[in-house]
Amino acid sequence: MLSEIDRVFVQDHLAHPRTSELSEVERQQYCETIKQLLKEKNAVLVAHYYTDPIVQALAEETGGCVADSLEMARFGRDHPARVLVVAGVRFMGETAKILTPDKTVVMPTLEATCSLDIGCPISEFSAFCDQHPDRTVVVYANTSAAVKARADWVVTSSCALNIVEHLMDEGKKLIWAPDKHLGDYVQRETGADMLLWQGSCIVHEEFKARGIQDLKAVYPDALVLVHPESPRAVIELADVVGSTSQLINAVKTRGEKRFIVATDQGIFYKMQKMAPDKALIIAPTAGEGATCRSCANCPWMAMNALQTVAETLKAGEAGEWLGNEVFVESELAVRAMLPLQRMLDFTATTS
Ligand code: SF4
Repeated sequence: MLSEIDRVFVQDHLAHPRTSELSEVERQQYCETIKQLLKEKNAVLVAHYYTDPIVQALAEETGGCVADSLEMARFGRDHPARVLVVAGVRFMGETAKILTPDKTVVMPTLEATCSLDIGCPISEFSAFCDQHPDRTVVVYANTSAAVKARADWVVTSSCALNIVEHLMDEGKKLIWAPDKHLGDYVQRETGADMLLWQGSCIVHEEFKARGIQDLKAVYPDALVLVHPESPRAVIELADVVGSTSQLINAVKTRGEKRFIVATDQGIFYKMQKMAPDKALIIAPTAGEGATCRSCANCPWMAMNALQTVAETLKAGEAGEWLGNEVFVESELAVRAMLPLQRMLDFTATTS
């Protein structure tokens, strides 16, 4: 589903340095600047688990949050700050804006997208839905506001199984989009009647079952943790399959001392913080170094660097946010809110 242009972008991104290339002095300077600007702007930093660990640490230190997409949306909605700085990818900024239309939502770059979002354009998806009018439309959070507006339900990986089971109980047949691997997993776990859109995540799709088996041979005591956006052969090797929050919780609560982790390695920051005595090993991807397509590191999440967060906040000094503010057309936002609200209401009663 990814075009050649997007693949070239990913490779190009990986060839460029990230925030970690800053000197310690520069890092400190950026952090101090961001802290001061957050206060001045009445802003809060909301970061995803896959962003640079330095950004995650700063979000925590300044009273923001580090979370999965569902918790990011809830936190932003409930926090009193006037401005939400969303360090993540575009659909997360859009979701924040839909949930909190009265707040200013900005992102370090609006170019940070997601291969699942790119691979599910509204025109094609809407035509697909029109061909199956008898089916309930369930979309993953990793979609545009327009795709959400076309859906009956939005789900995240932490609540997908529960919501699909609920819809099955109501006798519903489903359209699922966009992640084919997560859809396949949910279908196998629940037995639901689901038509799957064929999108995928460029990070999770790269994990290799053979590489994990080889690692297990070296570390037979290690527990294998897998995010369900990974291919079926990888999921079948997992001891725990779960969302980012569920995988972090597994590291914290399980008795094992070593974990092989198949998800973006940005999550190691939070895992290591929750369980500093545990050893974490990233699951192998296809290729190494220059031949690695994602290296378990989402190229779009990595656009949220200290520099881009600081530049975003500085851009707001003139009272405008230049190209960093997220807008969702109001009529579209109202329609997208319906399936989002169904998810929020459902999870509020089940969690
Ligand atoms: S890790 Fe995958 S699913 Fe998450 S934002 Fe990146 S491309 Fe999208």
